[in-house]
Amino acid sequence: MELSKIARVILITKASIAESNTSYAQGGIASAMGSNDSPEFHYQDTIMAGAGLCNSEAVITIVHEGIDRVKHLIDLGVPFDQNQGGLSFTQEAAHSRRRILHAEGDATGRAISQTLIRHVQQANIVIYEQHFALTLVTKNGQCCGVVTIHNQRLNLFLASAVILCSGGAGQIYDKTTNPQVATGDGLILAYQAGAVLKDLEFIQFHPTALCLPPAPPFLISESVRGEGAILLNGAGERFMPRYHELAELAPRDVVARAIFQEIHTHDNSNVFLDLSKIEPNSIQLHFPNIFSTCLKYGLDIRSQPIPVAPAAHYMMGGIMTDLYGRTSVPGLYAAGEAASTGVHGANRLASNSLLEGLVFAGRIADHLKAQSYCWPMEVNNLTFHYPILLGAYEQWSDNLIALQRVTSRYLGIIRDDSGLQAAEQLLLTSGHTVKSEFELNPYYFECQSMLRLAGMIAQAARIRQESRGGHYRSDFPDSDPNWRKHIHFHDNKIEVIGA
Ligand SMILES: Cc1cc2nc3c(=O)[nH]c(=O)nc-3n(C[C@H](O)[C@H](O)[C@H](O)COP(=O)(O)OP(=O)(O)OC[C@H]3O[C@@H](n4cnc5c(N)ncnc54)[C@H](O)[C@@H]3O)c2cc1C
Repeated sequence: MELSKIARVILITKASIAESNTSYAQGGIASAMGSNDSPEFHYQDTIMAGAGLCNSEAVITIVHEGIDRVKHLIDLGVPFDQNQGGLSFTQEAAHSRRRILHAEGDATGRAISQTLIRHVQQANIVIYEQHFALTLVTKNGQCCGVVTIHNQRLNLFLASAVILCSGGAGQIYDKTTNPQVATGDGLILAYQAGAVLKDLEFIQFHPTALCLPPAPPFLISESVRGEGAILLNGAGERFMPRYHELAELAPRDVVARAIFQEIHTHDNSNVFLDLSKIEPNSIQLHFPNIFSTCLKYGLDIRSQPIPVAPAAHYMMGGIMTDLYGRTSVPGLYAAGEAASTGVHGANRLASNSLLEGLVFAGRIADHLKAQSYCWPMEVNNLTFHYPILLGAYEQWSDNLIALQRVTSRYLGIIRDDSGLQAAEQLLLTSGHTVKSEFELNPYYFECQSMLRLAGMIAQAARIRQESRGGHYRSDFPDSDPNWRKHIHFHDNKIEVIGA
C-alpha cells in the first residue's frame, strides 16, 4: 500500500487474497502500549523466548517501531477491541505484561487482513489471485521478476523489486494449525535464486489445537490460558505446575512438550483445557470464534473441557534478511513468516509474528521509497530459477501423506539422531531425477517445495546436537552454549555460523 503511492505495485497470491495464515491469527498483535508496559519489557520477553538466538537489533526494531506501525493500523480502521474507552490488552504465555491487542475477540487476523484488503483494493495496486509463483527471475544476479502458473499457463512479471511475503510451511506436518496455502514455496523460490535460508530446525508447535476428529486441528488461542484456563491430563490432574513455574503460561515449547509427555504417559490422544475458572458469558464474549467453532462440532466450551493436542504452527527460520528486509539476492526482499529477520531466535514469543510482518514490511517500503530505479530494463539475458524436480514424489497426494508421516514422526516435538537419520534418508535420497514432462499443476510444485524444505529441516535438526527453543533432541536434552549459532543453507552448502 505504501509503495503504491510512488510506484506500480502488483500483488500476486496463489489462492484468493483472503486466504492466508494472517486471516486465521486469533490471539492478537503484541505492542507495548499499555500504561504499565514499555518496549524494554517487550524486548526482554522476546529475548527470553528466543533462547539465545535473537538478533537484538531486530528485536529492538520491532518493539520500538511496532508501536507507531500498530497506531497506523488503527488509523486505517482495524477495529481493535476497547475496554472502558481505551484499548483492551490480553495476556499470553511468556509475556510479562498484558500487551496483546485483539480485534473481534479472537479473530484479530481476520480483522487486520480484511481492513488491509479493503485498502489494497482501493489503492493503485493490480491484484492477481490464483497465480502460483513458480520461479524467481534474475538478471546479472539481480532479482527482477517472477513466473507464475495461472490456468495451466506460465506468466512472466518483471519488476524492479520483488518482495516475498509467502508465509510459513505448516502443511509439511499432518497436524497443523496452518491453512492449505502454507507450503513454504517462497523459501524454496528464494533458495533457488541464491538466497540464504537459516534457522530451519526451529519449528514452533502450538500446544493447544482442537483434537476432536473429524474437526480440523483448529487453534485454541493462548489467550484462553491467559484468561485462566488450565490444562488437565487424562487422569484429570493439573500437570503444568510440575513442568514450569509459569505453569500454563510457560513458553510454548515447554507447554507443547509437557502435553506431548502427558499424552504418551497416559496413552491418550489429547489432554483437556478446562475453562471452568472463566465466567461462561466472558467465554462467549472474548472467544466468539473458538466458541462457535467448537459448538459446530458439538462441544459447548462454557460447560465442557476442550480436548487439545499440539500441532505444527510457526516456522522461526526462513529467508535470511537484514533490517530492511533485504535478502542476500539484490532486488529480492522478504517479510513476514517467510523471512528470518532474527526477531524470534529459536522460539517465537506469542503474537510477535503479526508485529514482525507489519514492521519489516513497512521498513521495506521505506527503504524502497528512498531508492532510485532505472526502469524499464531490457528484457534479455534473464535467468529462470526453475525447481529441480524430485522424482520419487511423482504420486503427489499419496506422497504428501507419506511426507507428512515422516515429518510428524521424526521432525516433530521430540527428535533424536536415529529418527533424524531415518528422515534424511527418506527425504533426501529420493533421487533428483528431472522429469521431462509435467503438468503445470501448482499442487505438484507445492509438494516439491515441502519435500525439499523437510529435507533441509532434517539436516539442520541433525546437525544441531543440543536442545534450544523449538528444537528438542531427547539425545541432547540440554542447551549447549557452544551452539549459540545459526545453520545456513546456501547454494547447496550448509554452514554453521556464530550468533
Ligand atoms: C491459526 C493461527 C493463529 C495464529 N495466531 C497468531 C496471533 O494471534 N498473533 C500472531 O502474531 N501470529 C499468529 N499466527 C501466526 C501469524 O498469523 C503468521 O505468522 C502471519 O500471519 C504470517 O503472515 P505472512 O504475511 O507472512 O503470511 P500469510 O498471511 O500466510 O500470507 C502468505 C500469502 O502468500 C501466498 N503464497 C504462498 N505461496 C505462494 C506462491 N507460491 N505463489 C503465490 N502466492 C503464494 C499465500 O496465498 C498467502 O496469500 C497464527 C497463525 C495461525 C495459523
